[in-house]
Amino acid sequence: MPATTIDGKQISKDIQAKIKQQVADFVAAGHQQPKLVAVLVGEDPASQVYVRNKERACKRAGIASQLTRLSADSTTQQLLELVNELNNDGSVSGILVQLPLPPAIDAIKVLDAISPLKDVDAFHPENVGLLSQGRPRFLPCTPFGIVHILKRSGITTSGKSVCIIGRSDIVGKPMALMLAQKDSPLGSDMANATVTLCHSRTKNLAEVCATADIVIAAIGKPEFVTADMLKPGATVIDVGINRTDDGLVGDVDFDSALDVASHITPVPGGVGPLTVTILLENTLKAAQLNQAS
Ligand code: NAD
Repeated sequence: MPATTIDGKQISKDIQAKIKQQVADFVAAGHQQPKLVAVLVGEDPASQVYVRNKERACKRAGIASQLTRLSADSTTQQLLELVNELNNDGSVSGILVQLPLPPAIDAIKVLDAISPLKDVDAFHPENVGLLSQGRPRFLPCTPFGIVHILKRSGITTSGKSVCIIGRSDIVGKPMALMLAQKDSPLGSDMANATVTLCHSRTKNLAEVCATADIVIAAIGKPEFVTADMLKPGATVIDVGINRTDDGLVGDVDFDSALDVASHITPVPGGVGPLTVTILLENTLKAAQLNQAS
């Protein structure tokens, strides 16, 4: 029997409907409308699409959004000044600097300058530290979106072996941290996994992958994970977004994996919509935190 294809769009829709209600309740209680400011530097086409999607999602959820554009030749100093202004602006709940930044800009300096209480991407070292200690403030958007996908698909992680391929600060590393913890905001059955974090220097990647109950691919290489690397019945989460001549493809060879896996996320329409959804959740959380502080 072919694997069940997980509908990330529908899961997102359901969660976004809840967030919309929570935002409405928050505003009805007399609080200022949550507001997300996205900072976009330069004209990168993919970044423009991502930012537009985030703005649309905010609108649907009743969250105010603002896009601040800077030219590609902006300096680190100019960005730091902008971030400082946004940090001090009481009407701004969350700040998002769209990555990648042009190479001349010191991205780490800019991300570190965002107030940890407005850091809706959860990139600030303070928020990463809190996550690593198992007491997260904001949860990183893509990894937490994946936990939601698993939960809503009836797949628990406790006691399971999880192979994560890719050790980026945005996906692989925080994903490993979250699943290895004792607890999760979605319940302890959505944590407590035995995690193997694979990367470009992993020697026996195919073997490790083939022992995993859950495989999470975040590599950035089209159709890298093939059916022969999967244990029959494994759950396969494909984070990759690769632009090819045939359109968008993931990091997993979807067609062949369908015959081996029990559940699989498609690209597009799998993990991507959840990333935006958790950003909305974090913006509401930031609004709650900032009005309390
Ligand atoms: P990255 O591009 O920063 O790093 C890639 C990772 O893959 C590295 O850790 C590297 O060690 C590993 N890798 C590279 N070659 C490998 C190999 N041959 N074997 C094993 N590991 C290898 O990673 P990223 O930012 O997490 O992005 C990964 C993919 O996920 C990209 O396609 C990106 O577009 C996509 N992405 C999607 C979403 C979403 O919302 N769906 C969010 C973030 C990233």
